[in-house]
This record gives sequence, structure tokens and C-alpha cells, in this order.
Amino acid sequence: MLNIVLFGPPGAGKGTQSERLIDHYGLVHLSTGDVFRANIKGETELGKLAKQYMDQGKLVPDEVTINMLRAEVLKHESPKGFIFDGFPRTSAQAEALDHFLNELNTGIQIMVSLEVEEDELRERLKKRAEVSGRVDDADPEVIQKRIDVYHAETAPVKTFYQNQQKFVAINGVGTIDEITHRIYTAVDSRN
Ligand code: AMP
Repeated sequence: MLNIVLFGPPGAGKGTQSERLIDHYGLVHLSTGDVFRANIKGETELGKLAKQYMDQGKLVPDEVTINMLRAEVLKHESPKGFIFDGFPRTSAQAEALDHFLNELNTGIQIMVSLEVEEDELRERLKKRAEVSGRVDDADPEVIQKRIDVYHAETAPVKTFYQNQQKFVAINGVGTIDEITHRIYTAVDSRN
């Protein structure tokens, strides 16, 4: 299996690049943010709980997120691999993912980290708000909170994968095609 963690702050282009990668490598795209949003739309208990955190730009608690992720992975029979988009976002989630994949006799091959400066992120999120309809993209305070949470809780996940020699930083500024090709080169060197 080829399992990729696609990492980066909000607005780095994880969703856009995931779409390219799933086609190119035939992988299953697993975005925890998308799953939460689908649950909010479906008015499930999980959706109601997640919404309270998401609307404020906070992380949904680890236990809830990890259990949901496991259930999503297990829905797929003999997949070629997964792109984890927006997960893991804490060190506890990274450890849980390792244990879980280990149980399935697989693991993460590479963490691709899309690197984009903060001013550029804010600009992108502002533009995305006009088309995404996402509540958490529309409010500058919520955007700032998400960026702060990224630095405080999520950025340390890089160290987790650096220690395993799986971390690759990719310049996330350029055309979509340019960035896609940078990612292909990095993934192909590990695969
Ligand atoms: P995203 O679509 O990845 O930008 O995620 C939107 C929101 O969903 C985040 O701001 C969090 O509130 C929540 N979320 C998504 N993934 C996770 C995760 N791995 N852990 C905790 N909360 C998450």
C-alpha cells in the first residue's frame, strides 16, 4: 500500500492537491474535515459535536477524531492506499495512526508538507470563503484561531515524521501543476 500524509496549514492547498494524487496513484482520499462536514450536513450526533469545535476554529477532540478515522479506513476493502488529508493534526493522532496502520500490516511512506507563508494563507482563505460556503473560512477571527491552533498543536506532528525520516517539505506556492509535480517527484522517490 502507498499511504501519504498530506500536511500543511489551512489554505495550503491540501484539498486541491489531494484530488490530483488520488487520480494519479489510485488512492482513497480521507479528509477528516470533509467527513465532519458531511456529518454536520446529515445532522448526526458526531456532526453536532464536531460543529461546536469547527465553528470556533478549534480541533475536534482526539478520541472522537481517531475513532472516526479508524471507521473510515475500515470501510475500504483492499485499497491501494490512502491520502490522509487534515489528519493527523496532533501528536496523539499521529501515534494512533501508526499503531492502527501497524495492525493492518502497513504504514505511512511519506508526509508531504505544503509550505505556504501566513499572509498568503489568509488571502487564499478569504478567496475560498467566497466559493466554499464554509463558515470557518468567512470569519477572520476563526481563520486566525485555525492558524494559531496549527502552530500550537499541529506543527509538532512534523517532528514525529521527521524522526521517522518520512518528512518532505514542498514549496506550496506556484501554479497547481507545478506543485503537483513537486509532490509526484517526492512521492516517487519514496515509493
Ligand atoms: P479542514 O477541512 O481540514 O480545514 O478541517 C476543518 C475543521 O475540522 C478544523 O478546523 C477542525 O475543527 C476539524 N478537524 C478536521 N480534521 C481534524 C483533526 N484531524 N483533528 C481535529 N479536528 C479536525
